[in-house]
Amino acid sequence: MSKWPIGVFASVDAGLGVHFDVVKDLGIPSIQLHTPHRDNRNEQTATEFLAKCADAGVTITCVFGGFEGESYADIETTARTVGLVPEDTRAERLQEMKEISDFARLLGVDAVGLHIGFVPEDTQSDSYRNLIDVTRELLDHVKANEQNVHLETGQETADHLLHFIADVDRDNLYINFDPANMILYGTGEPIEALRKVGQHVRSIHCKDATWAAADRRGQDWGAEVALGDGDVGMETYLRTLQDIGYDGPLTIEREIPEDPVQQKADIGKAVSLLESLRSQILS
Ligand code: MG
Repeated sequence: MSKWPIGVFASVDAGLGVHFDVVKDLGIPSIQLHTPHRDNRNEQTATEFLAKCADAGVTITCVFGGFEGESYADIETTARTVGLVPEDTRAERLQEMKEISDFARLLGVDAVGLHIGFVPEDTQSDSYRNLIDVTRELLDHVKANEQNVHLETGQETADHLLHFIADVDRDNLYINFDPANMILYGTGEPIEALRKVGQHVRSIHCKDATWAAADRRGQDWGAEVALGDGDVGMETYLRTLQDIGYDGPLTIEREIPEDPVQQKADIGKAVSLLESLRSQILS
């Protein structure tokens, strides 16, 4: 693929991400894929989906894991339910994430992504130490599948994420950088964060958001908005990606599954914006 191919988050079955028809209609050449439901993680699904991708000229660049019981209703609920951090479900989700990695291998994809959850702030705590062990176990499994893990950003500050990656100390742990999440979760100014973590970034989301009120950041969500309408600053974002030497796909994420018509319109607009900025910046 040439530098900065446009991408979009898509799904095999119902749920998060856009329907594959949208990918085809908009002529988007790459996708990140939300993992299908457990029953559909099999060879037949993989073969059929790969045929669809080949037919449409689409490359799958990363498969994202997600788990039953996760809720992004508000920041507190997200902290309690998302990723490998919640201790009650940690072991079973580790097992499921390994299965997702195996499914990604069937698709020939060399990266699996996830929201690991809110990494505990106390690095001396048992929960933090155990999370390091669980992450290493996942990384070893993923490595046997010749894959890397990309951690989605936003649920911790850039500094804490760097600390965690250093503590895990494995050579196949990287970052999927999402600038809007830094704003939504109130975890830091996204461009500054991108500069800090840049050397670990292997995939990214193009998503936009506006900040919560200054005295409520980190407690109330910011608002996700169409690309270009928020506080990220898309031109600065792309120029910063250029500065850190990022060559991978520009994967648009627009999660408004309740309004597929608006979602498709927003993604179409995002494609135009990114293509125009890309030609300015790379010329
Ligand atoms: Mg994202």
